[in-house]
Amino acid sequence: MKRIKIAIDGPAGSGKTTTAKIVAEKLGYIYIDTGAMYRAVTLAWLRSGTELNDTNLCKLINEISVYIHNTSIGQRTFLNGVDVSDDIRLPEVTKNVSPVSAVGCVREKLVAMQRELGKNGAVVLDGRDIGTVVFPDAELKIFLIANENARAERRTKELREKGIELTVEEIKQQIVARDNYDSQRSISPLRKADDAIEIDTSNLTIQQQSDLIIDLANKIIGE
Ligand code: C5P
Repeated sequence: MKRIKIAIDGPAGSGKTTTAKIVAEKLGYIYIDTGAMYRAVTLAWLRSGTELNDTNLCKLINEISVYIHNTSIGQRTFLNGVDVSDDIRLPEVTKNVSPVSAVGCVREKLVAMQRELGKNGAVVLDGRDIGTVVFPDAELKIFLIANENARAERRTKELREKGIELTVEEIKQQIVARDNYDSQRSISPLRKADDAIEIDTSNLTIQQQSDLIIDLANKIIGE
């Protein structure tokens, strides 16, 4: 059996994480949420109380440990050995994650970790630059998109379930700001790889979009 690498990229709220988890579970693959790693570094920076600049971030990234661990209750993210899986979803982290992720030395370190985690295949990674930079050789590359309203509504519901109340309009503004930042940064911007398959999820259920990707993966695995 081929153990392929599946890259799922796309803008915020396009359903990457939920879809990637389902696809990984169905195929018996490891799921790697690369956004969680950037969020953990952002949390560390917020806690450091330092100014956001390259010097501070490059020093910080060498002083902290970030890792993800798959457990029976899903993937957990650890910062300096402490489970920060809930804290990394706080609005303050979401607000600051794009500028932190745009810093070269932060990306260098996290991309190296992601490559190490995925090097043996049988993995599903979701992020912004998986198909373009982390694994340009991934056998299956998906680029998920959805219109802004659908994305904002999904995110609002998700946050409400976690007890975070923000309006759809507020979320929409955040999503647009984050996508602009992520797609305009000079290093590894959010971009569809030339050989990625684009799927518009605006009118698809999570199950439908997951099934589409599972079918594509099975075709490659069975070849
Ligand atoms: O996927 P999620 O929304 O949790 O990602 C949070 C942020 O992390 C993104 O807005 C982006 O700035 C950054 N990110 C990135 N490269 C990745 C994954 C996430 O720059 N591969």
